[in-house]
Amino acid sequence: MLPVLQRGALHPDEVVPEQWNDWRWQLRNMLRNADDFSRFANLTDAEVAGLARTRELFRTGATPYYASLMDAERSDCPIRRQALPALDELAFRDEEHRDPLGEDAHSPVPSIFHKYPDRCLLYVVDRCAIYCRHCNRRRIVGGEQPPKRNEIDEALEYIESQPRIRDVLISGGDPLLLSSKRLGEILGRLRRIKHVEIIRIGSRVPVVLPMRIDDALCQTLAEHHPVFVNTHFNHPAEITDLSRQACERLVNHGIPVGNQAVLLRGINSSAPTLRALMRSLIRMRVRPYYLFQGDTVLGTDHLRTSVESAIDLMDGLRGWMSGMAVPQLVIDAPGGGGKIPIGPDYLREIGESEVRLRNYRGLEVTYPQPREKDPHVSYDEVYFRGIAPDDDREGGE
Ligand SMILES: *Cc1c(COP(=O)(O)O)cnc(C)c1O
Repeated sequence: MLPVLQRGALHPDEVVPEQWNDWRWQLRNMLRNADDFSRFANLTDAEVAGLARTRELFRTGATPYYASLMDAERSDCPIRRQALPALDELAFRDEEHRDPLGEDAHSPVPSIFHKYPDRCLLYVVDRCAIYCRHCNRRRIVGGEQPPKRNEIDEALEYIESQPRIRDVLISGGDPLLLSSKRLGEILGRLRRIKHVEIIRIGSRVPVVLPMRIDDALCQTLAEHHPVFVNTHFNHPAEITDLSRQACERLVNHGIPVGNQAVLLRGINSSAPTLRALMRSLIRMRVRPYYLFQGDTVLGTDHLRTSVESAIDLMDGLRGWMSGMAVPQLVIDAPGGGGKIPIGPDYLREIGESEVRLRNYRGLEVTYPQPREKDPHVSYDEVYFRGIAPDDDREGGE
């Protein structure tokens, strides 16, 4: 029997561990307003005003767990700045969009965003365990327009009808908020589609609701291998014993975990912060995958860095730390052109006989070109005889 608790108790000092460690309790008690957040931090007037004035515009919410990581005294705390809306969100700019990545224009059926030849995104839930201030899907997440069961069925039928799709990214919203049973159903349906080779799940749950990553969930995922999880840590302060255990539990079930961070001005836009983040990730076997330039989402101009400073920051990673810990910096093209890698230019000149480069320390290096130019693998004709070459599927581009 749990002891009788104070009504509305939210702080770890006020609740018993059985509640704190129950992911459904965390979700039921998500913090939404100044009263809730003030149990964890001494809010500034600007934060209180930000919470009040953005209420009609954008969803706000964070788990008590995530809020417990806040610095109670400093409003520049990276956790506070990711969870609490700033007044700057009210300043919309002409170049900002509701749908910066042109997803709605690449949606052949509800719940599918399909813009690459061989992979698509399956949108299964419209809720999250945090409503990130930089969210590029803030137009649809929040719990008001959940994808309907028949829409997800039709989305699965669409994937079945498109033999060129070999990689399905389950996203949302946060797919790990579904019950393990429902998630298992969706994974099972995908696995029965022959041409689907890999399944990826995009989730911020390891960061904001790590108690959700229990053995039952990991087993459900592992039944449908190859399954990959890409999570979203943005700052080393988000890495705790619990979030580390969550990531390690996934990996121990054979699920490779990657990280997709977003560069956020004044939050993680420094070389020491990014290095500490990437090193902490790789130590818990989470492989840094992408570092995103901020998308041009409504109300997020104050969170974006300039492209030059993003590139300078990358220059401070590559070569200075394990290559395993270095993510790829990308701009997700406004309008839906896909992810475009950007980064420091190491190539100075491509000549006929040699290439001039610079290394991470700025030293010039030359690389001699081979005498013959054209790549031709004659054995391909033998190896691919009788098998459709990988990129020859119906509908490929
Ligand atoms: C990001 C994204 C993908 C996956 O891109 P990768 O570069 O393969 O990780 C696929 N579909 C959509 C709609 C995306 O936004």
